[in-house]
Amino acid sequence: MDSDLIHNDSFDPEDAYAAEQVEWLLQWNNHLCMESDVAATALKMQLISVNSLKEKLKLKLDQLGEMLDDEFQTLKAKLEETQNKIHLLIDRDLELRRTVEQLTHDLQFVTLQKDQLTIERDGMVLKLEEQESSYKGMVAKQDQQIRSMQVIISESQHEICQKEALRRQLLVDLEGQEQVHLQQMEAQRQSLVENNEDSITCSICWVTWDADGDHRVVSLACGHLFGHSCIRNYLMRSESCPICRQAANVQHIRFIFGRHVLPNQTQ
Ligand SMILES: [Zn+2]
Ligand SMILES: [Zn+2]
Repeated sequence: MDSDLIHNDSFDPEDAYAAEQVEWLLQWNNHLCMESDVAATALKMQLISVNSLKEKLKLKLDQLGEMLDDEFQTLKAKLEETQNKIHLLIDRDLELRRTVEQLTHDLQFVTLQKDQLTIERDGMVLKLEEQESSYKGMVAKQDQQIRSMQVIISESQHEICQKEALRRQLLVDLEGQEQVHLQQMEAQRQSLVENNEDSITCSICWVTWDADGDHRVVSLACGHLFGHSCIRNYLMRSESCPICRQAANVQHIRFIFGRHVLPNQTQ
């Protein structure tokens, strides 16, 4: 409160009470002014201390800011590193996913193939079973055929034995017949040798005929043989064969071209 206001002209000095009051108010004012100064000083001191604290805090804040910056840089680097790692991991993950997809695809293909092969195998097994049963049937049939063949073979062997015996008997018979035939042939040969002289002799002149020349061998229609000149002369006088008396003339004369003409034994 300003003291000039208290000593204003409008103030009544006669009012002692009022003066006292004023005095008291002035004292109180002084007291308050003193307290106010003390408080102002204290406030100034506090302000100084607050400023000092503010400086300290600013320093600390700067330090903290630097520390935070450092930590932020470190964390940023770590974050970048982590991000790189994450990218790598994502790449790896993609690669693994692709591999898994490829493997899944392959597995599906293989499974499909396996199913197809299983179906084929089952079909083949069925076919093989059918073939086996038909083969067994064939084997049974063949066994039956073999048994019947063995029966036929044993019968055939029996027949062969019988035929062999018959053949031996026939051989014995043939040998006997051959012996007889040989004896007959020998007799014939003997007879031929004996008759040989007559068989090559002209029955007109009793001289052996020739292979060519005037007395060459000829035959008549009856087949009887003579020397050419002899039968020609004979047929000038007679009209029949001098041996069998069949009718004959010179027209019937035929040349014989065999060098060794022998008559049949039965004639
Ligand atoms: Zn003659
Ligand atoms: Zn005759």
